[in-house]
Amino acid sequence: MVQTRGAVEAGGVVQAGPAVQALRAGGAQGADEAGRYDVVIVGAGAGGLNAALVLGRARRRVAVVDAGEPRNAPAAHMQGFLSRDGMAPAELLAVGRAEVAGYGVHLIDARVDGIEAVDDADAAGRARPGAGSAVAAGFHVTLSGGPVLWARRIVVATGLRDVLPDIPGLRERWGRDVLHCPYCHGYEVRDRPLGVLGTHPGSVDHALLLRQWSQDVVLFWHTAELRPEQAERLAARGVRVVEGAVKRVVVDTAADALSGVELADGRVVAREAVFVLPQMVPHDTLLAALGCAADENGWVVADQAGRTSVPGVLAIGNVRDPRAQVVTAAGMGAAAAFALNIELVEEDVAHAVASRRTAAYLPPFSPAPVH
Ligand SMILES: Cc1cc2nc3c(=O)[nH]c(=O)nc-3n(C[C@H](O)[C@H](O)[C@H](O)COP(=O)(O)OP(=O)(O)OC[C@H]3O[C@@H](n4cnc5c(N)ncnc54)[C@H](O)[C@@H]3O)c2cc1C
Repeated sequence: MVQTRGAVEAGGVVQAGPAVQALRAGGAQGADEAGRYDVVIVGAGAGGLNAALVLGRARRRVAVVDAGEPRNAPAAHMQGFLSRDGMAPAELLAVGRAEVAGYGVHLIDARVDGIEAVDDADAAGRARPGAGSAVAAGFHVTLSGGPVLWARRIVVATGLRDVLPDIPGLRERWGRDVLHCPYCHGYEVRDRPLGVLGTHPGSVDHALLLRQWSQDVVLFWHTAELRPEQAERLAARGVRVVEGAVKRVVVDTAADALSGVELADGRVVAREAVFVLPQMVPHDTLLAALGCAADENGWVVADQAGRTSVPGVLAIGNVRDPRAQVVTAAGMGAAAAFALNIELVEEDVAHAVASRRTAAYLPPFSPAPVH
């Protein structure tokens, strides 16, 4: 795996240090001789890597910078991805990394601390055709420790973090037998005694959904009031409701498995897995700092290709959609890559036409007369 250190900025133009120069030498489609990438992708989960795969195959100069903390790392298996069902999450990423590296994409193990849109003179040291268009001439991408990359376009695929309720034991068992997504894990715990922690406005629907996988579902209603119509729906589907605050999840340490839920009054209800809805917090500080617009719930807004309100900056995967699964994030990566490549082709054509006119003092092209 390639690591980069040492790009330095001088006189407004990004200069590459030795490590970045080594990167260039080692990759068929790395940064150009001035250290520029067509696209820098932040985040090498399924979203970022699939964008890199399509762009690498489109012969774009691409770097993917990743901090190495994918969301599903605590889980032993990844489910629901056709042909990869049951694969270890780390294995999917390792295979993906090898594939994109095979197309000359640079993989850089680092955290991106900041991204800055820069104007023509700062970024390229020369006028850019189409200057005055909405897209910035380029972006400076600052890595932890100081190196700076230069990119024409940015894809942010930084995912989200799951904030669990403050109940002892949840964090330790997260992704093992404390779970959130029935589509990811429901089949593996089918027909077993399951619990749902009522810590979220969506917990009743969560319990009703989970009932699809097991007839033995208990909703621990914890601290809130259950409305009569909610109680009726749960009773109709045979979901039991246990009232009272939850103290902790109980673990059978010898078996290394969750064995129950303990309530504040000392009761323990035997369960083999517990589902809980975390608060999902997008890793969107880079997008926010760039000025990307967000919706009323605070999630960055983007179109189907991932284009945010800031031209040249795309957001894909969980950073903009908490519902995105691995396969969905990968699909968003592909859609973003197609859109970006077309944009760059258009820009390259405009650049070439302007250069041709400047070099030859040619008037705008007109077909030769036919005699
Ligand atoms: C326990 C658990 C189990 C799951 N199981 C499944 C499953 O079985 N099937 C399924 O389809 N989905 C599953 N999911 C959901 C799955 O994790 C997400 O759908 C998927 O990870 C989204 O991909 P992504 O590319 O958007 O983000 P991620 O996979 O989270 O990747 C984001 C990457 O960006 C990096 N990053 C963040 N900030 C920076 C920065 N500033 N600089 C550089 N890098 C940065 C992170 O380190 C990370 O590597 C599960 C989730 C959890 C929590």
